[in-house]
Parts: sequence; structure tokens; C-alpha cells
Amino acid sequence: MDARLEAIRDTVLARNPGEAEFHQAVVEVFESLGPVHDRHPEFLEAAILERLCEPERQIIFRVPWTDDSGRVRINRGFRVEFNSALGPYKGGLRFHPSVYLGIVKFLGFEQIFKNALTGMPIGGGKGGSDFDPRGRSDAEVMRFCQSFMTELYRHIGEYTDVPAGDIGVGGREIGYLFGQYKRITNRYESGVLTGKGVSWGGSLVRPEATGFGTVIFTEQMLRTRGTSFEGQRVVVSGSGNVAINAIAKAQSLGATVVACSDSSGYVVDEAGIDVALLREVKEVQRARLKDYAGRRPGVAYVDGGSVWDVDASVALPCATQNELDGGAAARLVRGGLVAVGEGANMPCTRGAVAVLQEAGVLFGPGKAANAGGVATSALEMQQNASRDSWSFEHTEERLTDIMVGIHDRCAATAEEYGEPGNYVLGANIGGFVKVADAMLAQGLI
Ligand code: GLU
Repeated sequence: MDARLEAIRDTVLARNPGEAEFHQAVVEVFESLGPVHDRHPEFLEAAILERLCEPERQIIFRVPWTDDSGRVRINRGFRVEFNSALGPYKGGLRFHPSVYLGIVKFLGFEQIFKNALTGMPIGGGKGGSDFDPRGRSDAEVMRFCQSFMTELYRHIGEYTDVPAGDIGVGGREIGYLFGQYKRITNRYESGVLTGKGVSWGGSLVRPEATGFGTVIFTEQMLRTRGTSFEGQRVVVSGSGNVAINAIAKAQSLGATVVACSDSSGYVVDEAGIDVALLREVKEVQRARLKDYAGRRPGVAYVDGGSVWDVDASVALPCATQNELDGGAAARLVRGGLVAVGEGANMPCTRGAVAVLQEAGVLFGPGKAANAGGVATSALEMQQNASRDSWSFEHTEERLTDIMVGIHDRCAATAEEYGEPGNYVLGANIGGFVKVADAMLAQGLI
């Protein structure tokens, strides 16, 4: 790493002790930015990097609620408003027991660059709670969401900060959160949250957008090598919203997705995952992936183990951070891997990325490859602002254009900086320069 950036990195790491995921995200970005600072010494003079690594605002709050037995429960809520150079803070809420400040900050930091790459006017933020929705009744989830919003409402707004979903926060949770916001503020402010139901201000394609976008981005990478998804053997990790829609889109382009996973194991379905059945099990019944295998003749659920033990030509990690390490990457490479598109945020460890790049595997980092979700959130905000709603076809076309645009911008930037095909470099530099220029123009704030 560039020596000037090393010193800044060391200060950032020391100022934010114990936040391993945030450190990882920062270091990965810094490793790309040396050449930019050679060309733009003004970024160093204005301390753009130091400012970028310090969130504009961090909110941590108590979330009290009662469970169905009447017992009082306490969780911790977070909203990190990281950077508003390009627009209102924008990013999801994650409800998962692993959530702490370091996770929210890594996600918020990534979101700044991701949102910049979409070309839409949105800044970066992220939030969530260590609440675990798994096994909770609808009534418990509703009470939790109402309590969470009872604090959060004072910090958000369509021109301030616009949350959406992430792991553990889907349409049900956004509904409860929106209802409570409306009740407290007495405002039908559609643009305050995205991922809403289509009949009350949501956008068509938003539920599909992250998974679809990841596949569209990966298809563009494959085209640079004269191939496509047609005939590829694909492994997807996860079986939530992003995974399901990535599977659907990859198969619609002629691939066979032979495996997907959850936190306890995975299924191998050589005929190709039955998306309708998977949706039924996971989205309608809110059941476990194991039940998918139980209802599909000849398909077994592998308890424990890693989905990355299954050979594939394309891998789409769509579960969570650091789920694919160097060892798994090396094994996939031996199995004939040609491309990886990150549907989740930072699912590949730095070791994995090094192995993939060394082996010449096409690698699309999450901040570019999974930007379709937040991009479509920005389209939802656009529809809300104009009190309009667009057709599925029109919205999907916009999403496709945005993903192709992100791909092309990353590819062109990588080329411009002398590393053609390095999408990590292209995404980091492309996102950074846009935000840095805006910060410079807006003065020392
Ligand atoms: N949580 C998603 C992401 O990681 C979507 C955020 C949004 O739509 O605001 O980008």
C-alpha cells in the first residue's frame, strides 16, 4: 500500500478498535487508492480519506419490547449516517444477532462507494439491530419494529436518511416500520423508506433487484471473455431474497443453479433449483431450506459442510460477509471456476479475493455487483417524489441499464489505471473519485 495512505489507515484502525469488519472494508479500499492520490494531491490536502472514514453521525439507541409471554426484552439499535456528499444517507437495516457497531460501519462504508457507482443521487448509511427475528411471531416482530422506529423516526426523512431492508428486514418489517413512522409523524412520507409494498408506494422489481442485478453484472463480466450464463453450472450461497432472485435470473439466462445454502447446510439439486418451490418454502412458509429438500424427490440436504465444496463455473455468494475464504476459493478454482459475482456485502475474505484474482477468475465485488438493490431503491424514491409508479418492464430496463453502466464504468476505470479486468480497483476508484470530488466542492464539513 502507498505509504501516505498507510499512515492514514493506521490512524483509522487505531481510532476504531475492535471493529474487524470495518477495518477489512477500509483496508481493501485503501489498497486501491494509491494511484488516485498521485493524480489528485488535492484529495490528500483536503483530508478526504480521513473525513470519509469518520461517519458524519452515529446513532446508538435502546430498543425495549415485550415478547409474547410478556417478558421485557432489550436490544440495541444503530444508524450510522456515513456520508451525504451525493444525496441523503441511503442504505438498509440489518436485524441479526451478529450486528454491532463494526458490522454497521463496514456496511455503511461500503454503501458510500456502492451508491456512488449507481450514478443516483444517494449518500451512504446503514443501520440495524442485534435483534434476531428467527423464531419470532409476527406480533413480536411488529412490536420490535414499532419500538425501533419510535427512536429512529427523529433521525430519518426523505431528504435526510432513507433506510431500507437488508438481512432480516424484508417487506413485513418495512411495513411495520413505515406504519409506525406515519403514526408518529402524521405524515404519509412515502420517500422515507424503500422496499415498501407495491400498493403503498413501493416499486416493482425492488424485491428482485439485488439478485437480478448481481446476475446482470456477472453476465457483463462473462461477455468480456466471450461467454455468458448460457450453459454455466452455478452455485449460489444463501437462500434468502438475494439468493432466490439471483437463482431465478441466472436460470432465465440459461444457467443451471445446482446448489444453494442456509446457515446450517446446503442442497445440491443437479436438475437445477426449483425456484417456485424455494420461494414457497422460504418466502411463504418462512421454513428452512431443509424443507425444500424434503419436498423435492432425490434431493438431499447436506447438514453442515460448505456449499463451496460443490464444483461450479460461476459462484454467486449471496449469504453474508466473509462466507468464502481463501481455501474455499482455491478449491473452487481447481473445480473449474471462471467467475464470481458478490450478491452479498463482502462475502469473500481478502484471502479469497487474492486467490481468485491470481487465478484469473472474473471477480465482481459486492459494491458493484450487488448495487442493483439500492439502485432500485433510488428508483422507488424517484417514483415517490413524482407520485408515480412504473411498470415492471420499464423498471427492469432501468435496472439493467444501471448495472451495465456500473460494469462499464468499473471496467473503464480499471483500464484507465492500468489494471484491465480488475473490478475491485475499478469499483473502489470509480466510487471514490465521485464522492471525493463532491466533498471537495462542498468545503470542509
Ligand atoms: N441493503 C441493501 C444493500 O446492501 C439495499 C439498501 C437500500 O436499498 O437502501 O445495498
